[in-house]
Amino acid sequence: TKPKQTREFQAETKQLLDLMVHSIYTNREIFLRELISNASDAIDKVRFESLTNSALLEGNSDFEIFLVPDETTHTLTISDNGMGMTYEEVVENIGTIAKSGTKAFLAKLKEKETSPDQELIGQFGVGFYSAFMVAEKVTLLTRAPGEARGIRWESTGDGTYTIEECDKEQRGTTIILTLKEEFRTGEENFLHTYTLQSLVKKYSDYIRYPIKMNFTKEEQPKDADGKPIEGSDPIQTVEVRILNSMTPLWAKNKNEITREEYDSFYKDMFHDWENPLEIIHSKAEGTVEYTSLLYLPARAPFDLYDRDATSGIRLYSKHIFIMEKCQDLLPDYLRFVRGLVDSPDFSLNISRELLQHSKQLKLIGKNLEKSVLKTLENLLSKDRPKYESFWKEFGQALKIGVYSDYQSRDKLKGLLLFPSSHSTDGLTSLDEYVGRMPEKQKVIYYATGKDRSSVERLPQMELLKEKGVEVLFLFDRVDEFTIDALQEFKEKKFQSISRGDLQLDDLESPEAKQDAESLSKEHEPLLQAVKEKLSGKITDVKISSRLKSSAVCLVSDNNGISLSMEQILAEMNK
Ligand code: ADP
Ligand code: MG
Repeated sequence: TKPKQTREFQAETKQLLDLMVHSIYTNREIFLRELISNASDAIDKVRFESLTNSALLEGNSDFEIFLVPDETTHTLTISDNGMGMTYEEVVENIGTIAKSGTKAFLAKLKEKETSPDQELIGQFGVGFYSAFMVAEKVTLLTRAPGEARGIRWESTGDGTYTIEECDKEQRGTTIILTLKEEFRTGEENFLHTYTLQSLVKKYSDYIRYPIKMNFTKEEQPKDADGKPIEGSDPIQTVEVRILNSMTPLWAKNKNEITREEYDSFYKDMFHDWENPLEIIHSKAEGTVEYTSLLYLPARAPFDLYDRDATSGIRLYSKHIFIMEKCQDLLPDYLRFVRGLVDSPDFSLNISRELLQHSKQLKLIGKNLEKSVLKTLENLLSKDRPKYESFWKEFGQALKIGVYSDYQSRDKLKGLLLFPSSHSTDGLTSLDEYVGRMPEKQKVIYYATGKDRSSVERLPQMELLKEKGVEVLFLFDRVDEFTIDALQEFKEKKFQSISRGDLQLDDLESPEAKQDAESLSKEHEPLLQAVKEKLSGKITDVKISSRLKSSAVCLVSDNNGISLSMEQILAEMNK
């Protein structure tokens, strides 16, 4: 057996614990939600793994979470018969911060370099460590299925913890919180059954496993006629009650769900700290039967475009969790969508391979894609500010979708937004641009550069500005790939203002055309001389009508890559 050890928390953990212990955060009641959600996750885990290895259940498959408040020891105990943890897992999961969310939280703190304000702490779910907001001591007992002995972990949140082996009969984890005085005497008393009951209702109602608590009743003994017997001592009866309704939120009818419920469910399940931007809840019956609850987050996670970051939709079958991140349900360009699908058509122990080839999955996926696109189109036409805030966060994913996903090009082009010379702060859709085009204009003009002032300084802009021609501004490095992939919109080709002939002829007066031609003839020798001098570096020299006050400008020819793309490629090859 392993002897009792005292260990130090990892530096980052210490920092976080310190915050929790001296918490300035008022909403401390959320600790219960965090611990219950961990318990539920652990039961999910053992339930799932037991499908292929029933020995893990050790004969106990009455999954439950139990709350025990104890006035005499000042403790609140939360226990589950989930997956438990091995020695190594306790050290790994409880002693260090591996979670990306918590890491992001700490990074945010550093970035701000101030003491964390209310809001910031409230925004991040800090998980297990939130226990230290209300407890002066946290004791964790746990045993993984198949292990002979359990593990006892304990800490007062002071930078160290102890860990040792112990006896534990039931599989799973028990967390004993020795409550700080203010939380067992004051107004916020976490030993009161009533308080606990309402907290569970508020935060954890949809947890799929019963959250149980004992309620003690005192009754006066009754005689045969049912009359209380005078003078005898009351008898105590204990009744176990289930505190949560266990109906998953998505299974309820839309009109029975409040926006707050949708929001808190989202934050809890997807570990976000902000309310979602949009909610798409739908049920389908027919060739495939499913319920889906999808969310458009308000903000992009920092790792959205990381190649290794996993996206995907949670999969359930008849309310039972199957898979965390099913990637085959939505196209890659919708990787930012969070949510879940619950369908009786999937069997619980379906393998990833089978799933990939599942017809139902493909059908559901098609429907989900359609409804997300529909939602976006509606936002674009009915709630422009909201759409623009979506675009700011996730527009890049759609733009990448246009050039990397050939089949989705047409579905996405109407959703694209770009800055343009039309207004100084707004964005324009391609539809809007084309709608403003004068009849004679044949192409959609765009300029690339790093920001507005740099494209506005391009010599080519002068002429277009003078002619009142609108130019799209491409500042994002993926923009030009996107435009190139599209090639045209409503039969109007895209034309870079720094590439080849600007095709302004039709907008030009006949006299001006005449002028350019005769000028070219007149200065033939000059053009030849410049061409010879720069031979090998350029392909042609022309008299241009595109300049106003600048003397010369460099342009790419119509077939070559553009100047800005050349810059991007050069950078990539560094
Ligand atoms: P998260 O739940 O987001 O992973 P937490 O801080 O809440 O982060 O928990 C950290 C880790 O500790 C969990 O990922 C899990 O591995 C482990 N853990 C916490 N509570 C339990 C529990 N009741 N049973 C088993 N493992 C748990
Ligand atoms: Mg957690």
